[in-house]
Amino acid sequence: MATYIVLLGPPGVGKGTQAKIVANQSGLAHISSGDLFRENIKNHTELGQLAENFINKGELVPDDLTIAMIKDRITRSDCESGAILDGFPRTPVQADAAKIMLNEIGEDIDIVPFITAPDEILVERLSGRWTCRKSGHIFHTVFNPPLKEGVCDIDGSELYQRDDDKVETVKNRIQVYLRRTSPLIAYYREQGKLVEVQGNQAIEEVTRDLLDVLAKEY
Ligand code: ADP
Ligand code: AMP
Repeated sequence: MATYIVLLGPPGVGKGTQAKIVANQSGLAHISSGDLFRENIKNHTELGQLAENFINKGELVPDDLTIAMIKDRITRSDCESGAILDGFPRTPVQADAAKIMLNEIGEDIDIVPFITAPDEILVERLSGRWTCRKSGHIFHTVFNPPLKEGVCDIDGSELYQRDDDKVETVKNRIQVYLRRTSPLIAYYREQGKLVEVQGNQAIEEVTRDLLDVLAKEY
């Protein structure tokens, strides 16, 4: 049986940061819907063109486009032992689709760590976030600075500030999260899959708590 983990939580809480660490340590694939959309935008694909407007406004990309993109990704061979889903599902329709696409291959979502932090922390984190152009590695000017300003420690590529990390867009993204994604908290709690993880701690402390939660499950 493979392992499928959904990382749930508001924008900026640290899902991408933690997903990359846990994927490295566990050998699970890291599937970030946001990274996939940004890659499509960078490569000027049709999906990228359709998604870009929604992303720049801090709105969600329509469910059908998002679900098709993830379905294609999750059936690739590097997901054989399972995956950490980061940023997907983000609506109840997507959550139902995630279940169906995994059930079709004899799998299911095993556990949903829900990472939490107060809104003011989210804004502070997103406004200082720097992202690597090549592979989406994540830094922060104060909390996780790169060794050399503007350069990714891991692959040497340029770091940039995402357009949707502007304060006004961030505020909208938090509202969109509350309206459209937060119903998933009850959805997964009712299925007995939700485990809360305190996100308002240092990166290593969040990783420790997350690994504890995952170790208890397996
Ligand atoms: P998400 O994927 O949930 O949107 P990220 O992992 O991209 O969040 O983190 C948002 C920003 O906060 C990044 O700049 C990252 O370096 C920083 N960050 C992540 N986790 C922590 C933490 N525990 N403490 C301080 N800063 C953090
Ligand atoms: P993220 O990198 O997770 O912060 O996502 C960046 C943006 O991509 C979001 O604000 C949305 O516009 C879009 N996006 C990412 N994942 C999804 C999803 N599961 N459903 C709809 N839109 C998404």
